[in-house]
Amino acid sequence: MRRRTWIGTGWKMNFLLADAEGYLAELGAFLRGAGDGLPAVFVVPPFTILRSVCQRARTLPLLVGAQNMHWEARGAYTGEISPAMVKDCGAALVELGHSERRAMYGETDAAVNRKVLAALGCGLVPLVCVGDTAEEQRLGVAAESVARQVKIALHGVPRDRVGDVVVAYEPVWAIGQDGTPASPEWASALHAVVREAIAALHGAEAADRCAVLYGGSVTPANAGALLAAPDVDGLFVGRAAWAPQGLVALVRIA
Ligand code: PEP
Repeated sequence: MRRRTWIGTGWKMNFLLADAEGYLAELGAFLRGAGDGLPAVFVVPPFTILRSVCQRARTLPLLVGAQNMHWEARGAYTGEISPAMVKDCGAALVELGHSERRAMYGETDAAVNRKVLAALGCGLVPLVCVGDTAEEQRLGVAAESVARQVKIALHGVPRDRVGDVVVAYEPVWAIGQDGTPASPEWASALHAVVREAIAALHGAEAADRCAVLYGGSVTPANAGALLAAPDVDGLFVGRAAWAPQGLVALVRIA
């Protein structure tokens, strides 16, 4: 099956409104002139500028996502954001289970699952991040760990909604300035693991509809080979796309 290509960036705890305005002005000029055949391009800003970025993106072929959310619709959850609040800002997707949230804020597989179901229930595309640690890779259990994360995250997703989920395979050892990018062969093999895990839950046909992106030390120099690897449907990028020219370069490669 021919799936859509996705290229996007998570801004993490970076970018004030003025930074985002400059970024979107430059990215917008490119996107407006790019014509047909663009991949699905997305940015994931921090909550403080989410509504402003969504408003500016409205006239662009650009999707906007939140970096996290709670699974409950409302209640006494100080500091949290509900699915409807994310939607109300104008966002189309929500990043869930990034390795930083798992490692630093105790986000569990079960919590990610509740968030995935809540996102779908609210009409948001869940961008589910999964990945193996260096230790798991060293011990030869990378595939098991990734399969477990996928199976728990997508547990209970209705079969006809599996195609609305996007998975980002992001090996923890590949992310950030000390990371080493996965080889295209490794990425391809682990993307196949992701797809098999989805197929085990929801059947091969549903799994075939789900886009699986690669993330971790992507640069314009390695993007082409990663995108050409079997089962790699796109890229989720940090540092290399924090300047608009970086994201533009990656979109051109895609
Ligand atoms: C990330 O943090 O999800 C990521 C992919 O970061 P980087 O591209 O900077 O390694």
